[in-house]
Amino acid sequence: MNAEIIAVGSELLSPTRVDTNSLYLTEQLNALGIEVVAKAVVGDDRPRLATLVKMAMERSELVFTTGGLGPTEDDVTREAVADALGRTLVFHPEIAQQIEERFRRAGRQMPAINRRQAFIIEGAQILTNDKGTAPGQWIEYAPGRVVVLLPGPPVELKSMYSRECAPRLQRLVPRQLIRTLHLRVAGMPESELDQLIAPVYRRYPQVATTVLAAPGDIQVILRARCATEEEAEALLQEIGPQIEALLGDRVYSRDGRSLEEVVGEMLVARNATVAVAESCTGGMVGARLTSVPGSSRYFVGGFLTYSDQMKWQLLGVSPEELAEFSSVSAPVARSMAEGARLRAGSTYAVSVTGIAGPEGGTPETPVGTVFIGIACPHDTYVQRYRFVGDRERVRQLATQAALDLLRRAIAGLPLEPAALTATDQLPQTPS
Ligand code: AMP
Ligand code: MG
Repeated sequence: MNAEIIAVGSELLSPTRVDTNSLYLTEQLNALGIEVVAKAVVGDDRPRLATLVKMAMERSELVFTTGGLGPTEDDVTREAVADALGRTLVFHPEIAQQIEERFRRAGRQMPAINRRQAFIIEGAQILTNDKGTAPGQWIEYAPGRVVVLLPGPPVELKSMYSRECAPRLQRLVPRQLIRTLHLRVAGMPESELDQLIAPVYRRYPQVATTVLAAPGDIQVILRARCATEEEAEALLQEIGPQIEALLGDRVYSRDGRSLEEVVGEMLVARNATVAVAESCTGGMVGARLTSVPGSSRYFVGGFLTYSDQMKWQLLGVSPEELAEFSSVSAPVARSMAEGARLRAGSTYAVSVTGIAGPEGGTPETPVGTVFIGIACPHDTYVQRYRFVGDRERVRQLATQAALDLLRRAIAGLPLEPAALTATDQLPQTPS
């Protein structure tokens, strides 16, 4: 079943107000297995709103409006939806009485304009409002096709939705269960990942696949919608391993946990600790590691060594080495990591040194060049990267790569992920 949401209110078209009601509704509807296929924001404009509602009704079984149910002239949702449905508005004296009663309890007299809120679309079911005056409306204009009018204030909308809409929707929607597999992947571009896994997920239209990308970090969310839990589980167990096989050890999380959480748990499991020595990332690696509650169990501390002098004074990188290779080099990344590990007394240490740009690049070490070192108990590894993007992006990518390299080193994985399997070598499993 598909739904559309129309948020009504001229204030929502201003640069200062955002429509949050549709986010809440989307979450609730998704939980019932209802997909939100379109959303709109429209000002308090009767013909525009009527046109939008009509369009939405043609495309989707469920149409929700939020807002525009207030008592003032600019609140036109009742009239606009009546126009779209070709129905009239009917005055309900008992609703007017309830609103009057609400005002009386608050020690006030009902302003005459509040009578407008007692107009209900012909044939609508009334949705009670326990947090405000405007009742909502539920109009089932054809079997399985509904327009729902909800108030704008979020507290009113939420209460009305959970008390009045959720039970009605449960009756309307075929019972469905959703199971989710949330893979997170480091170190590959979104387009490359999608090209690789699309041939698999396209064969499973019953599984909604979302690919969300942030610099160096991709989330693949697979949602299986089925009548029973077993079916949904079985479907994910069929598709999940196929996708994981393609992505290999680039997958760092199977339950949505972040890279810093995963690395933290790996360290705890090994009773190990980590320190950082950062140059171009200016503390971003340390910030991510310490963003996890309980990170004091494994994060010892860090060295923010931006200048050559600090690399020498705090980490013991020799001036000769800095002069010979420059600060952005493999030997210096190695010495930074080893110096940090020694001085912090940690099991592991991560170093980052690079050129974030926009200036400072040379033909040998262009902007975006970053060296990451991982000092381990028995060895030190250094990787050279070339990131593309502006200063902030290079720094984010370097931070992500540093955490992922640390993950690989701790897990004993090869530092470079294995070459990707070509999609035409996919095992042919029945779908
Ligand atoms: P209305 O029902 O149009 O009178 O809306 C009353 C108030 O609810 C507005 O002033 C906003 O503060 C709030 N509101 C309306 N629509 C939304 C929305 N889509 N998201 C969040 N708040 C809203
Ligand atoms: Mg409004």
